[in-house]
Amino acid sequence: MVGSSIPHRISELKAIFSDIKENIDEKTPRRPRKDSVLLEICVPGCCGHNGCIESTNNREQEINANTKEGNRKACICTHNALEDDLPNPEHHLETHENMVREIQFLKDEVYKLEAINNELRARECEMGRTVDEYSNRIKRVEMLENECLEQARMISRLRNELVDLKGSIRVLCRIKPSTGSNASSRIEMSDRCLEICGHGKRHKFEFDRIFGPNATQRNVYDEVAMMVQSLLDGYKICVFAYGQTGSGKTYTMEGNGEEPGLIHRAMVEIDCAVGMMQKEGWQCLNTCSYVEIYNEEIIDLFSSEARKVSIVHGDGDTNLMNCTVMNAGEISSALKALEDAGKRRKVGSTECNTRSSRSHSVYILNVKMENAALNEKREGSMIFIDLAGSERLNSSKAEGVRLKETQSINKSLSALGDVFSSILRKDSHIPFRNSKLTYLLQNFLSGSSRAAMFVTVSPEMEHFNETVCSLRFADKIAQCKLGIAERKTMRIITNEDQK
Ligand code: ADP
Repeated sequence: MVGSSIPHRISELKAIFSDIKENIDEKTPRRPRKDSVLLEICVPGCCGHNGCIESTNNREQEINANTKEGNRKACICTHNALEDDLPNPEHHLETHENMVREIQFLKDEVYKLEAINNELRARECEMGRTVDEYSNRIKRVEMLENECLEQARMISRLRNELVDLKGSIRVLCRIKPSTGSNASSRIEMSDRCLEICGHGKRHKFEFDRIFGPNATQRNVYDEVAMMVQSLLDGYKICVFAYGQTGSGKTYTMEGNGEEPGLIHRAMVEIDCAVGMMQKEGWQCLNTCSYVEIYNEEIIDLFSSEARKVSIVHGDGDTNLMNCTVMNAGEISSALKALEDAGKRRKVGSTECNTRSSRSHSVYILNVKMENAALNEKREGSMIFIDLAGSERLNSSKAEGVRLKETQSINKSLSALGDVFSSILRKDSHIPFRNSKLTYLLQNFLSGSSRAAMFVTVSPEMEHFNETVCSLRFADKIAQCKLGIAERKTMRIITNEDQK
């Protein structure tokens, strides 16, 4: 029957159309194939099917054949209708034409959908390639990360070997620029040798490094930068500045707003390195304390109450009891606290310097590090000591309170000299307990740490004798060799280990 065949085709095409549409609407890169639909829309040659165009053409031919058959039957119907008074065949023809138009419309839609489907397939392929490319890149990044970790370990090992080769105590000399108002001593220097002439005498010294008047704060810091890094490998580091008042100890250690000194630079570098370590899975806690040793008393500089502090040693650690421990993780507030505390340091006036430091200032930076993934714990400490002026009593002409201060300073500096002499002689007993200064430094000078001493000198002729004294003291220390430094690292004991 014509009437039932064509609507049947139309509903078939509609079903195909809605299947294709549904297929495209799914928009998932790997949507399930619907074979009935693909048969209709696939491009000839791209699969095993005959291709949707061919199939659609076949259907068109089939429909046309049916249409002719329909027309023929319609004529018969018309004829019969005239004869048998059947309904008007014109209505039948109109319905048929509508159906043909609808078929054409559906065919057009199939073409369009086929084009969209092809585009989606192309995109799906492209997406597949991109996904593969990204997964390859992720693998490469993981590989590079492992390589970086391995290289970081190697660099740290080489750096520590180099620091060991340089010696666990390094003596560095810094010559301050001349003020220009007074005559200067004749100083000849190379990177490591220094010859100073005055009062008809000539003195020669050799140190690990000599910084001339033009050396910048950066140049000086670079020399201890490797030691700062060693702190993060779990070592104890000690840096101190020795010299006559006004020779540049505080400038070297603290610097000023424009030219920050060693402490400031080390704090910034440690803060930066700790940030990197945290990204690699380390949990770090950096803290600091700041004290001064004045007339053989240790005073907390972070406290406004001039709190007295005592030293307790235990298990290779030095603990300061009753002392403020500040979190140095917040770098800007830690630097501000350092600056404020520096102002509390005892200063007095002697003939050597109108703003002479009368105490030894001691800044301690401690970093605790823990990495659960690597199962490792480390603890590094760094101590910066800005020693009080080393000038002798007859030079400073101090009296009263100043005299007592000067005697106390000289006593502790001479105790420091004795400790170094004892280390040099390899004595079984090192007299660390002879002064608060040496007692505080015990763990930092007892063979398991690394130390650097800056001897600062003025080039002026009027300071010639004091300069020679300072250089002799430094020369004595240069001959000391501490033992091979040890790192303080440990494996974390896990619950598994305890079973
Ligand atoms: P100290 O701590 O040994 O008593 P300071 O560090 O206070 O001496 O230095 C005294 C003065 O000399 C300060 O004004 C300081 O800025 C200046 N000074 C010291 N060393 C240098 C240097 N290398 N370059 C420039 N100025 C310096």
